[in-house]
Amino acid sequence: MTAQPNSTEARDMAYHLHSYTNPRKLEREGPLIIDRGEGIHVFDNSGKRYIEGMAGLWSVAVGFGEKRLVEAARSQMARLPYYHTFSQKSHGPVADLAEKLVGMAPVPMSKVYFANSGSEANDTAIKLVWYRSNALGKPEKKKIISRIKGYHGVTALSASLTGLPNNHRSFDLPFPNILHTTCPHYRTGAEPGQDELAFSRCCAEELEALILEEGPETIAAFIGEPVMGAGGVIVPPEGYWAAIQDVLRKYDILLIADEVICGFGRTGNMFGSETFGMRPDIMTLSKQLSSSYQPIAALMINDNVYEPIANEADRIGALGHGFTASGHPVAAAVSLENLAIIEEKDLVGNVRRLAPHFLGRLNALERHPLAVEARGVGLIGALELEAADGAAAGATGARVGAILQRNGLICRNIGDSIAFCPPMIITAAEIDEMFDIVEASLEQLG
Ligand code: PLP
Repeated sequence: MTAQPNSTEARDMAYHLHSYTNPRKLEREGPLIIDRGEGIHVFDNSGKRYIEGMAGLWSVAVGFGEKRLVEAARSQMARLPYYHTFSQKSHGPVADLAEKLVGMAPVPMSKVYFANSGSEANDTAIKLVWYRSNALGKPEKKKIISRIKGYHGVTALSASLTGLPNNHRSFDLPFPNILHTTCPHYRTGAEPGQDELAFSRCCAEELEALILEEGPETIAAFIGEPVMGAGGVIVPPEGYWAAIQDVLRKYDILLIADEVICGFGRTGNMFGSETFGMRPDIMTLSKQLSSSYQPIAALMINDNVYEPIANEADRIGALGHGFTASGHPVAAAVSLENLAIIEEKDLVGNVRRLAPHFLGRLNALERHPLAVEARGVGLIGALELEAADGAAAGATGARVGAILQRNGLICRNIGDSIAFCPPMIITAAEIDEMFDIVEASLEQLG
């Protein structure tokens, strides 16, 4: 692409190192500059309209241009634009949000800690688990089990939890105390003839074998997303979380539910933990917490986690952890208003009501000759495609992603899977519009 001199594109290409982007490809092709958003749509700087089929990055639950969130930010900005939560300081919005989240929790939780990203929330969760083990006089209990294809972020510690090679390769990760167990993808993991329940038992047996091999007394926690998102939208098979939790209970291992994508309605209940019968000790939250209008994340911990940590911090003098923007007042005020909108508009009910239609249209895509599998739950799903004639892994997904974008739909290609996660305000007609574009685009693929 030859960008106009001094255009946004040209300056972005010259100065901006992008996330999750091949820098050389960016230098050749230039960026797509998104200029504004309204409802389920965003518009680029030429005025072209796109359906945001991924709600940004699985996050803009209430859609773009929500004036109530603009007003919540403006009025908090005018009253108290910043304050911190170190050294016994606090403010109204963060206290209100902590109370609100504890009240919403699907299992008893006692405290909320605030961070700025899902990565920081997961990083903090692991640090608190280690702190707790030391507090309990079990310094050997430090290993964390995560899963192949799980996604938990990109800080050095959360990237170690992430079970995707791209997040480790050339970064000298993962850290040694982080182990990865089986990915619960039924289609690729099950033996021929094995039903979902049997496959789930098999995943739990593999987890137990890893625990026994490492020594149960060395394992502190297991972390998992209720539904794997960035690993390709992998919905757990029947009985999976029940079988996993049986093993964790047997060996006194904490469960961390990474609800960064599933939290606040995505799977048809307020939390993915409810949809899949999980009873976590720690929950990490972000994205739909503020609909990403402000950067914020939270982790909720139960008494079993909080009490030893509080005792240890009391003994030492203070908890040696905190971000300058932990519990930022503007982010907290926006989150409170965002949660009010989700509740008042019954967006979780909307997900539940629209899920059969969304999943019906998604599953119908399996008729395409290149389709391998459609999978989803609530308003999150993916279509996996076969690599077309000798194409490298991921090339077909990238091609489809580019065609969709040309046709006015932004989705996320994950390898050869195309992920869908539209804003939760979407209507049935808009779902049809979205999948009509997908069908037409797949025809153009040939
Ligand atoms: N956990 C999950 C399940 C995620 O999907 C993500 C991001 O996509 C993260 C953690 C990391 O969040 P962030 O990008 O805000 O650091």
